[in-house]
Amino acid sequence: MKFDVEKIREDFPILSEKMACGRPLVYFDNAATAQKPRPVIEATAQFYSQDNANIHRGAYELSDRATSMYEKSREDVKNFLHAAAEYEAVFTSGATESLNIVAQCWGADNLKPGDEILLSEMEHHANIVPWQFMAERTGAKIKVAKITPEGELDMDDFRAKLGGRTKIVSIAHASNVLGTINDISSIAAEARRAGALISVDAAQSSPHFLDNLECADIDFLSLSSHKCFGPTGSGALVARKKLLDNMRPWKFGGDMIEDVAWSGTTFRPSPERFEAGTPNISGNVVFSQACAYLSKIDRMAAQEHEDELLEALTEGLLEFDGLKIFGRAKNKVPVVSFAVEGVHYNDISSMLNNYAIAVRAGHHCAEPLMGTLGLMGTCRVSLAFYNTMEEVEYFLRSLRHILSVLR
Ligand code: PMP
Repeated sequence: MKFDVEKIREDFPILSEKMACGRPLVYFDNAATAQKPRPVIEATAQFYSQDNANIHRGAYELSDRATSMYEKSREDVKNFLHAAAEYEAVFTSGATESLNIVAQCWGADNLKPGDEILLSEMEHHANIVPWQFMAERTGAKIKVAKITPEGELDMDDFRAKLGGRTKIVSIAHASNVLGTINDISSIAAEARRAGALISVDAAQSSPHFLDNLECADIDFLSLSSHKCFGPTGSGALVARKKLLDNMRPWKFGGDMIEDVAWSGTTFRPSPERFEAGTPNISGNVVFSQACAYLSKIDRMAAQEHEDELLEALTEGLLEFDGLKIFGRAKNKVPVVSFAVEGVHYNDISSMLNNYAIAVRAGHHCAEPLMGTLGLMGTCRVSLAFYNTMEEVEYFLRSLRHILSVLR
């Protein structure tokens, strides 16, 4: 069945906004954050209008209701990811916090001098810096698997760097710069054979329906609700419960303790031990509404639509003289980074703004990858299923005009 993009767009009120230049918004910065559908917006207002109370502690109806909604959302998020019973979902503020919990809480007690952490050249800072901090504290070493000129993970290099000393492989499912989709099932199988754990940064794959935990034998999965059309400041770390229960917490306070005495404190099992203090209750409750919304979409049709947009965008960009696309992997999410000879990426993005086109320019929180590519930054177009072919064509026409002025 054909994907009815116009009908889908009706669910996203912001897509009808006009920008200061008087033109309708063309939102091509979905890898930074996705727009929100009506059910998410309405559920947020509804929570604060009808259900708001603090959770896990009130002996009254409203608090019980908020607690039930919060815990139901946790189950909904796990179900959305097809997580088996052995997995638990810890609510976090997003993929960054989830990855920090893996690095800091698992790393602190499981890494020692001589151990290795295997990352890849295409990682976001959120999957680099927490490991650098942990490596420094434990004496473990970071190894980095290379990418091929097409921007795919170089599996030969990955295998060469994976060995008996590797304690964990932490890798993006999809790159926020190159768009590359990594074959997590194979990577996880190789990691497992080497006796290493596997942590997956799913921040960029989950918005494109690549969220199925069922098929890969992984230990930790980090994602952000806001990139999946849900609220900001909310996300999850979905992980094997037995690993989580053996990890020491990192944030301490109310809600995560079993008993507190001056002589010492005992902690609750997961997920509570990682959720100290009052969490983002509404955000985490409404995260499940984003999952519910995505579950109703025909994912095959949506992926096909995104693939058509990606192909048209790539083909269109390749016709420009002096323009280079970074990331030509066979399997990609609809993210295209490019640079134009002699033109600064910031000039392109700010001129596109005059056409009401929102794109991101810079290093995209992936400075080491920029180093590999020999760049300071790129212009990045990142699409979602609500984008249209007309928008892609309008973008290409606008870019042609801009470059004729800038060059
Ligand atoms: N990993 C990747 C691949 C990302 O693209 C991002 C966000 N740009 C993050 C992690 C961090 O996500 P958040 O900012 O939502 O914590």
